[in-house]
Parts: sequence; structure tokens; C-alpha cells
Amino acid sequence: MYDDKNIFAKILRKEIPCNKVYENEHSLFFKDINPQARIHVLGIPKIECIDFPDFILVANDKTVSSFFRSVDLVVDKLNIRDDGFRIISNSGINGGQEVPHFHIHILAGEKIGSLR
Ligand code: 5GP
Repeated sequence: MYDDKNIFAKILRKEIPCNKVYENEHSLFFKDINPQARIHVLGIPKIECIDFPDFILVANDKTVSSFFRSVDLVVDKLNIRDDGFRIISNSGINGGQEVPHFHIHILAGEKIGSLR
């Protein structure tokens, strides 16, 4: 069950601040508080969903499409399209997910190391 006390739910309710990169009706993008690369942005949809499978389950097609189109828009906003970037979404225990609100990591600004 979705825990509405998670940190990203609090950011969405503006109970705690974030360093916003982009926002629209369906999603919010902000800088990671503990960046793992020179550019490290998180993207979250504005609906209650725990992880990637939950997002696909509960979101309608318009919301899913809008979210991923926003990721692409943020890639342009960050000016990282040409040099490249990595998109990650950790899901569940094996995925190493810490915050239980579905999110995408966008890592860029330098060569991102191998996953292992
Ligand atoms: P996960 O491991 O769940 O995929 O990633 C959670 C991410 O959220 C981590 O990279 C962590 O640094 C980031 N994070 C945790 N708390 C906060 C916060 O309060 N503000 C921001 N901007 N990022 C956070």
C-alpha cells in the first residue's frame, strides 16, 4: 500500500522544499539531494504510485505518456541530449529502491560508470 508519508509525497504537497527543474500538471522534476553525477535529476509523477509496475497499473495512458514525454523534455532543458545520459528507475528490494514513490533518475554531465 502507498505510504503518503514518504519524502516525495511530502515534496509534492510542498511540505518540504525541492530544487525544481520542471513541473507540469502530471509530473515534477527536481535535483537529487545527494547527486551521484554532476547532473542528477529525479522525476516523479503526481499520482500515488509506489514503483514502476504500480505506476503502469494505476496511471491512465495519458499520465504515463505525459510523464515519459516530460522526461524527454527535461533532457532538453538540461542540455544533455547530445552528450548522453542515463535513466534509471529502481524498483522494489532487489532494485534497491529507497523512496516508495515511483521515480526516474536522470544522470548526466560526465561519463556514468558501469552499473557493476
Ligand atoms: P532510490 O534509491 O529510491 O531510487 O532513490 C531515492 C533518491 O532520492 C536518492 O538518490 C536520494 O538521494 C534522493 N532523496 C532522498 N531524500 C531526498 C530529499 O529530501 N530531497 C531530494 N531532492 N532528494 C532526496
